[in-house]
Amino acid sequence: MFRKILIANRGEIALRVLRAAREMGIKTVAVHSTADASAMHVRLADEAICIGPPSASDSYLNIPNIIAAAEIAQADAIHPGYGFLSENARFAEIVEEHRIAWIGPKPEHIRTMGDKVEAKRTAGALGLPLVPGSDGAVETVEHARKVAEEFGYPVLVKAAAGGGGRGMKVVENDAMLEGAFRQARAEAKAAFGHDAVYIEKYLKNPRHIEFQIFGDGKGKAIHLGERDCSLQRRHQKVLEEAPSPVLSAPERERMGMICAKAMADMHYRGAGTIEFLWENNEFYFIEMNTRLQVEHPVTEYLTGMDLVKEQINVAAGLPLSRTQDQVTLSGHAIEVRINAEDPQTFAPSPGLVSEFHAAGGPGVRIDSALYSGYRVPPTYDSLIAKLIVHDDSREQAIARLKRALEEMVVGGIKSTIPLHQRLVDEPDFRSGDYSIKWLEALLAKKG
Ligand code: ADP
Repeated sequence: MFRKILIANRGEIALRVLRAAREMGIKTVAVHSTADASAMHVRLADEAICIGPPSASDSYLNIPNIIAAAEIAQADAIHPGYGFLSENARFAEIVEEHRIAWIGPKPEHIRTMGDKVEAKRTAGALGLPLVPGSDGAVETVEHARKVAEEFGYPVLVKAAAGGGGRGMKVVENDAMLEGAFRQARAEAKAAFGHDAVYIEKYLKNPRHIEFQIFGDGKGKAIHLGERDCSLQRRHQKVLEEAPSPVLSAPERERMGMICAKAMADMHYRGAGTIEFLWENNEFYFIEMNTRLQVEHPVTEYLTGMDLVKEQINVAAGLPLSRTQDQVTLSGHAIEVRINAEDPQTFAPSPGLVSEFHAAGGPGVRIDSALYSGYRVPPTYDSLIAKLIVHDDSREQAIARLKRALEEMVVGGIKSTIPLHQRLVDEPDFRSGDYSIKWLEALLAKKG
């Protein structure tokens, strides 16, 4: 087993990894920018090393500085968390070239799945159902028009290097096509440095349902059920729950086994998430994330497994802790993402947290790096806390979520707690009858 893990991240996910490592008796090295000198992950780690100025490109994305920190601290493994360098195949290779263990998938799988055109091709070859669309990248307006006419408007132009909902354009009709195509390419170039795009049929009212999988890298893989992440704003997840209110047990079993088999065939290593859109009882693969997800605690509640410890064990060469038959899913779990944002305008709200009180009691988990007196920097992601609840049934989990939201106090800055309080009372949410379009429609209606 590893002696010392360097955590190449910040915020709640750096703490999450630190907690797993500490319980396993592994020492931790925090890295941080100058803006994060007094952050919680720095305070709790065994060692901390400053890797640069506030800007992420100079610190949390600075590969030479992170590798130097790992060498100075003599860390024998690196956990990348999510975001930042977690899906950077080149970084994973560099880590391994330095004889440091990479707590993540094989670099070649990160690379394949990071290119969404390649990812779709691979997923199709592994037997996963795809969203109908172009066969590969689309280079010209003429080609785009042919694809759109074949599948019928509306279509979606998507960046091959896409992520975080950027570089996507909905095209309603032929007149819009040329402008949207050029704009999507320009946006993709600006955001990711690559202008390759592809085209998909735009599904009208789907749900977003994803499967958590785990592979040992040697041909064994299991699935840990699904998460329903249909509550989104600007293609970004706001609330996640499991089980999905719309999936039957046989469907879960069928789709889960297809995913697990695909990952076993690929010899996938570590944690991964296969994302689908779901409409009229059909699944359509959209992408695969080769890392731990923000919403992984939902699955931890249902399975009783610790996904970070599982990642560490697999990276150290140990077998998966459970066979598929040993995985049981129990109860219902919901996660809400609490952001430092105005709950109405969603404008960022960084600054001094004058007061912080975390909810507690049975079946309540808070993953957060906040404390009273902490100053949320304006530089990074606005996620400040995840509130996750678990209970026997969906109805009880919603009651628990409502109760826990009432207990939470984040003073001094604005947060999205009031948005979540409004959501838990909405009849459509309570009945489970919502698609990926529902939240934006609600926000537009009530302002
Ligand atoms: P990203 O990597 O940028 O997050 P995804 O491919 O995962 O992009 O898509 C993000 C979200 O965009 C999905 O959860 C869904 O809400 C929406 N979306 C993506 N593809 C389609 C599609 N073909 N039809 C309708 N909505 C889509």
